[in-house]
Amino acid sequence: MIEVKKLNKRFKNLHVLKDVDLKVQKGEVVVIIGPSGSGKSTLLRCLNLLEVPESGDVIFEGIKINDKDVDINKIRQKMGMVFQSFNLFPNMTVLENITISPIKLKKKPTEEANRTALDLLRRVGLGDKANYYPSKLSGGQKQRVAIARALAMEPDVMLFDEPTSALDPEMVKEVLTVMKELAYDGMTMVIVTHEMNFAKEVGDRIIFMDGGKIVEEGSPDDIFTSPKSERLREFLSHF
Ligand code: ADP
Ligand code: MG
Repeated sequence: MIEVKKLNKRFKNLHVLKDVDLKVQKGEVVVIIGPSGSGKSTLLRCLNLLEVPESGDVIFEGIKINDKDVDINKIRQKMGMVFQSFNLFPNMTVLENITISPIKLKKKPTEEANRTALDLLRRVGLGDKANYYPSKLSGGQKQRVAIARALAMEPDVMLFDEPTSALDPEMVKEVLTVMKELAYDGMTMVIVTHEMNFAKEVGDRIIFMDGGKIVEEGSPDDIFTSPKSERLREFLSHF
């Protein structure tokens, strides 16, 4: 579904991604781990061109999306993204937050968009919050709305960048549970996280990044039980 080839990205003199290659199969859950500053967010943001690669290719569903004649907005509709900060529209209700893109961008009839949104809200355990404003929700609830909002566009892949890092510990689980259910339903997912138990349990493949490179990748067992590199062993010792 996604293929990244020889991706390089620099911010001024800072070489942030160095010849990164990555493939994600349909239905696969790929978890990216690694120290702060290792390039995880930049890699994720290159997948939907929120960051423009300096060299290399990003191929999504057979289309080289860093070609200049590709309509990136169309492509982005197929790639849901959930950030650490929830980015909900504060002046809209939960329902409006979820339906605005399907109505505006996908020309969904309001009735249908509302029905889908309510289904999604039930799926993330917030069936009773449709008419609330985001300010009335907890962090965990906001993040579940953000997930529902991304799902409302019927994406082919979901990208998560530390979705639980801004949450109080007691709210982390409710968000991870929703993500776990998505994974078991067969959603293709690329997840940056520091939740190692979640990575172990839900990841099909774990990627360890350090210094702008993929240092090691493998099954959860490979990575967590028999890490090969000293850098990965050292990183894991902090958890
Ligand atoms: P991670 O997500 O693994 O913590 P990032 O991809 O956010 O790492 O960042 C990798 C490096 O690139 C860091 O040194 C960070 O400071 C730098 N960086 C990220 N975004 C920008 C930007 N927009 N401008 C300049 N430097 C950036
Ligand atoms: Mg990051």
